[in-house]
This record gives sequence, structure tokens and C-alpha cells, in this order.
Amino acid sequence: MQHHSSKPRVGISSCLMGDTVRYNGGHQRDNFVMDVLAKHVELVPFCPEVEAGLGVPRAVVRIVRRDEHEFLLESPSGRDHSEAMRDTLTQISRRVLDADLDGFLLKRGSPTCGISGVKIYTGTERKSRVVARGSGFLTQRLAADFQTLALAEEGWLKDAMLRQQFLNRIFTSRRLKNLGNSPKVSELQQEYAAHKLLYMAHHPGAQRELGRQVAGLKGSLSSDQLQDHLDQAQSVLGHRLTRGRHVNVLQHMFGYVSSKLSRVCRRHTCEAIDSYSRGQTSLLAPLTLLKHQVLDKGAHPWLVKQVYFDPYPSSLW
Ligand code: SF4
Repeated sequence: MQHHSSKPRVGISSCLMGDTVRYNGGHQRDNFVMDVLAKHVELVPFCPEVEAGLGVPRAVVRIVRRDEHEFLLESPSGRDHSEAMRDTLTQISRRVLDADLDGFLLKRGSPTCGISGVKIYTGTERKSRVVARGSGFLTQRLAADFQTLALAEEGWLKDAMLRQQFLNRIFTSRRLKNLGNSPKVSELQQEYAAHKLLYMAHHPGAQRELGRQVAGLKGSLSSDQLQDHLDQAQSVLGHRLTRGRHVNVLQHMFGYVSSKLSRVCRRHTCEAIDSYSRGQTSLLAPLTLLKHQVLDKGAHPWLVKQVYFDPYPSSLW
């Protein structure tokens, strides 16, 4: 089901919203998410442990590996909640599909919600030890059922590059979905053209490949082709952003306007890009400068329309 909402729809571990659903009756409210991000997205809460009937408060659970299988066991009793959790996750998976999510924000370290670094134990309750680190039950299920869904842990949003990566993915996903269920090929091609530099910032090779696919579309668009495009776009944006790739895009844009700039302006712009490449300023400094130059100098229309300048609301930078 497509929700034609202009805002991205983001699933979230409900304890991050301030819901008192944690094992100890507490919560883990994330102030950035609730005070800033929530103004620009629709949050859809889930708490698998409560939905699986574990109650609040409850004993802690942990992942225990035995004979290559992972179990969700209560500590210290060893009571096995694996089956109840798997049943719950089947229901959650259906609801995630119906909710037409663009991303999912997950609580760090939880044996249910954590994405990475979750402790995996072995042995008996009396004598157990951590043998590996991995992801929680919910994350494993989301990754298996929704390969291109953008996932992030709470702490990732504090890192500028990881935050950009997640926001680029969810806002682009929603922009493409907002084209509706049956856009014209030309509309999809225009949308690709507007996102070209954003894709390039994530992975130039993957961006070119996506461009070739979009250019090859003819006639009317089937729903499979549209879904394939959404998936491909997410897979391009799944590539890690790096300072070097941003510099590549900034220089690319600079190439379009440099001949129209005064010598002083050219020097300032080169210095701004150079400062960013050395980690002395944020991306916003050279980007804002280039944006004004592009608008001021009446550069090529496709450059003016680049989503890369404003991929998401400015308060989220
Ligand atoms: S981490 Fe997940 S399972 Fe645990 S309280 Fe938060 S939402 Fe519920």
C-alpha cells in the first residue's frame, strides 16, 4: 500500500520515542529524533518485546547461540521466547509492509532491536560467555524481508556523515514514492536527473549504471519497473558517503560555473572546497557558496534543480 504522504515514514523502536516499554519500565527518549526529526517525518512505533507478551517490567533477554541457532532467552531463568518473538516479527513484517516505510530507527545494543554489536552468548545460564557480536532479532528480520529499507541506530544520527546517509535515503525514497503508482517514464527520468549529483556523492559508478537503466525505459512504466527503480535508487544511496566523494561532486559543480565567476570568487570557492576536503569546515560551507553561484550565474537548468543542494530540510543538517 502506498501512503501518498509528502513526509518520509519511519519505523522506530518505541522506547526511543519516550514510551515506557523497556525491561526496567523506563524509556530511552532520543531528543534529536523527537524534538527535531519528528517535525519532518511520520514516526511509526514498534516494540517487539512488548508485542511478544514479555510485559513491562520484565526480565532481561539475550541472544544465546547453540548448535548454530540463535535463541532469545530470558536471564536468569533461561525461559525461551524465540518462538513468540518469531511469530511477533511475522506480524510486524506485515505491518511494516502496509505502513510503506522509508526507513527504520532502532535502539542500539538491544537483543531485539540492535543493528550491530549486539552481544551473542553461548553456554549455560551459569556459565555463559560472549562469543560474537551481531544484530537483534527484529533487525535480522527487517534485513531479510526488506533488503533496501534504510536502517539506522539511534547513535548514528549524531555522526554527520551517517545522518546524511540515512536522511538521503528516507527523503529520496519518499520523493520517488510521491510520484504515485503510475508516473510517466519522462517523470521518472526527470526525477533521476534531479538526483544525479546526490547519487554521484554516494557512488559514481552505481549512479551511472542507474542512469543507463533510466535512459533505457520506454513506453509506459510497469509497477515492477517502478519498484525496481526504487530499489536500485536505495541501493545506490546505500553506498557510504565519504568526504572524498563529496569533494568530487563539489568540483564537478564548480566546473559548470567557474568560467562565469570572477577571479576572487573562483579562489574563494576553491578554498572552501579545499577546507572541506581537509576536514576544517562542514559540507554546508562550500555547498552554500556553490548554490548561490549556480543560482546567480544562471547555470544549466538541471544543475539549478539538483536535490544535492537541499536533500532534506535544513534544520536536519
Ligand atoms: S529496544 Fe526494542 S524491544 Fe527493547 S524496549 Fe525498545 S522497542 Fe522494545
